[in-house]
Amino acid sequence: MNEQPPITRQAGLKRLDAFLREGAADYASMRNFDRGPAPRATTSALSPYLRRRLLSEQEVVSAVRSTLGEDAAEKFTSEVFWRTYFKGHLETHPAAWSDALALAAAGRERLDAEPGLRRAHAAAVEGRTGIDAFDAWARELVETNWLHNHARMWFASIWIFTLRLPWALGAAFFMRHLLDGDPASNTLSWRWVAGLHTRGKHYVARAENIRRYTQGRFDPAGLDENRRALDEDRPPREAPLAPADAVPAGDVALLLHLDDLNPETLPIARVRCVAGLLAHAEDAAEPVRMADRDAMRDGLEHAARRFGCPVVPRDEGWAGDLPVVTPWAPLGPSAAALPAGVLRIRRRWDEAAWPHCGRGFFRLRSAIPAVLEACAAR
Ligand SMILES: Cc1cc2nc3c(=O)[nH]c(=O)nc-3n(C[C@H](O)[C@H](O)[C@H](O)COP(=O)(O)OP(=O)(O)OC[C@H]3O[C@@H](n4cnc5c(N)ncnc54)[C@H](O)[C@@H]3O)c2cc1C
Repeated sequence: MNEQPPITRQAGLKRLDAFLREGAADYASMRNFDRGPAPRATTSALSPYLRRRLLSEQEVVSAVRSTLGEDAAEKFTSEVFWRTYFKGHLETHPAAWSDALALAAAGRERLDAEPGLRRAHAAAVEGRTGIDAFDAWARELVETNWLHNHARMWFASIWIFTLRLPWALGAAFFMRHLLDGDPASNTLSWRWVAGLHTRGKHYVARAENIRRYTQGRFDPAGLDENRRALDEDRPPREAPLAPADAVPAGDVALLLHLDDLNPETLPIARVRCVAGLLAHAEDAAEPVRMADRDAMRDGLEHAARRFGCPVVPRDEGWAGDLPVVTPWAPLGPSAAALPAGVLRIRRRWDEAAWPHCGRGFFRLRSAIPAVLEACAAR
């Protein structure tokens, strides 16, 4: 992830191709190893493209299954469905997102009021805690806008249970710097590490596990491996999934946003003009904003080519009398910034998967064949 090319569909397809040739076959056995900011990752590094849907979950899963065969692709397929699961889960537990934002705001107020906490937080985000692995990951995140999944798990666990910092400030730190920063995957992963998502079951970062899966790069001292899971008074309640709108029969204006920049595969045909809604994550670092801008430009160009229509600035009256259609924006900055009256349409993938995401992941995992079949039947 060091020399990050512009985040475009073309770059994503190139990354997918490299993964199919070089990494996919070893994915299941190697994916837990974190080699650090080395040129060859043990995972696909496709998340910046999937997060913005420059590549769709469906095409990535389908490419890996075609290359490896269904059985050998099982682990990768199920990891992609973790992303789908978190999206669907947050849609039906919106308080998990609003609570995280409120907790982060409260945490920032505490930083202003409590010098001890402020010092501990500054040492953590600047990589000065004295825990070798943690400090290296804090710097790696800020410098490369990336961390391996296992490093994210260890980092979040040390943040919460060893450094005893507020978890929502850690989640906000990730959202600020990660190139794939995603309200659902990030918030719910932090909650999962803390023992709030699967209540009472938390993830403990162990020194031995870190030594092993970083192949001896680190030897972290002073980890608290015995803390209990966090708890909360009011866990987020389940809410019904909001219904999507029907696709209008005639001409439409298309509004693209950062959660879905894959206009070619939208179930619409008659688009007269397209505009973009660029709503970054709150406080996003400049490399993340740049990636968002590159991705948006690319999505708009693809839409203009696909529909033979102009890209127009989103000023007042940009759509004229046409109905405005947008791909579904899951909870997060894009959804919050969508103007009223826009018709929100959902893809088959989300429509088939999200009803299985209300509880734990394993319900969705059992439904993976049915979801894939529903999408293939199009
Ligand atoms: C504390 C914490 C915070 C995280 N924050 C984010 C985030 O903001 N955005 C984000 O996209 N992912 C997040 N993840 C999930 C995961 O770490 C990344 O998706 C993964 O590291 C991306 O690397 P990759 O593309 O090489 O993944 P691969 O292993 O190659 O997997 C392929 C794709 O499957 C999906 N995926 C894989 N693992 C997970 C997972 N555990 N949860 C959800 N989706 C997964 C991703 O879309 C990924 O691109 C977080 C995990 C933790 C523990």
